[in-house]
Amino acid sequence: METYQLAQESQLNDLLHVKIHQYKQQNDGECASYIPELKKADPSHLSISLLLPDGTHYTAGDHTVSFTIQSISKVLSFITACMHHGIESVLNWVDVEPTGDSFNSILRFELTNQKKPYNPMINAGALTVASLLPGTNDNEKLMNVTNLLYNLLGKEVCINEKVFMSEWETAYRNRALVNLLAENDLLAGGVDETLLTYIKLCSIETSVHDLAKIGLILSMDGYDPIEQKQLIPVKIARLSKVLMFTCGMYNSSGKFAASVGIPAKSGVSGGILASIPPSTRNLNVLSQGCGIGVYGPAIDRYGNSVMGVRILQDLVEQFHLNIF
Ligand code: GLU
Repeated sequence: METYQLAQESQLNDLLHVKIHQYKQQNDGECASYIPELKKADPSHLSISLLLPDGTHYTAGDHTVSFTIQSISKVLSFITACMHHGIESVLNWVDVEPTGDSFNSILRFELTNQKKPYNPMINAGALTVASLLPGTNDNEKLMNVTNLLYNLLGKEVCINEKVFMSEWETAYRNRALVNLLAENDLLAGGVDETLLTYIKLCSIETSVHDLAKIGLILSMDGYDPIEQKQLIPVKIARLSKVLMFTCGMYNSSGKFAASVGIPAKSGVSGGILASIPPSTRNLNVLSQGCGIGVYGPAIDRYGNSVMGVRILQDLVEQFHLNIF
């Protein structure tokens, strides 16, 4: 068994390079354009980073290219709000129900007698969660999430000012959404402060390596196996993974769960955070669990990186990583 495991380990790096090369040729999807600055990304970029609990790290492709975290920040703000207020209080404000609507839909407000946003992974829910973050202004609220990131990553993160301004100037739909939330008493803070907080969170600069580290900690239920510290309470880490599994890939979350089958959260800049839990079903180099970060800015009509999803699906099939 040991020999098999070691053999696979030494081959994993080569395998990732081969897969990145293979999927780069396919060239499907387009960069998001509704935030003008995101359109400037190179659609041919593709990278992956994979981190094991013992700190072994595999990477391939354009892994030095950084990008803004966008909707992946929704996982981090949800965790921060829960760590501060407790899960129960946060769920008084936002539900845990998938919608099937696009991430920035305002449809539900008119169609249903909505008491709270459907879940924290869509914009409506994430705006409510942003308003709940501890702090008396947008910068303090942001700082509470970047402090969590500091603990998870062991380094400071920064905001991409160009992407922030680009989104702030064109956030027509999110402005509508945050106003509808305020009208329905679904914000714990002011309209401008909430929108500023939310857009700053989306503009945090990140990399596939950061995403792999976050994914690894989530896969260990909030425990950082490298630093040997519990950084997120177990229940909050588990609930976050449930939300990633059921609502993390926009309105193709069901399809992603059925065809790939792992907790993941994507963002319109092309990043995907994936968390692979340990498994005793199959013995291979990845059965101890791992975190995976993927980046490919060419996205599909739902908002997910086309090549990112394909490479994840491929790896999951090859290593039997799906959770069901
Ligand atoms: N800042 C983006 C928005 O709210 C995030 C979208 C996303 O990545 O899903 O439109």
